[in-house]
Amino acid sequence: MDQALPLPAPPAIEVPALPEIRPIPVAELWPWLLFGGLLMLVLVYFVGVEQGALSIFSNSYVHEFVHDGRHLFGFPCH
Ligand SMILES: [Zn+2]
Repeated sequence: MDQALPLPAPPAIEVPALPEIRPIPVAELWPWLLFGGLLMLVLVYFVGVEQGALSIFSNSYVHEFVHDGRHLFGFPCH
């Protein structure tokens, strides 16, 4: 009586159909890449350069707001 009993068949699982993955054409993508690039340039400006003679705003609120980011990205500060 060492014979193992056959296991019951697992229940059938329905796998939903995957949606079709459509590549994004470059013509639709480049305006977003340009927008993201400009946004990153503005962010790098405010984090890295907005200080002293090059500052747009005369007070130091922007500099103090992004101060930890300056040190994080290695921009010279103080
Ligand atoms: Zn600093």
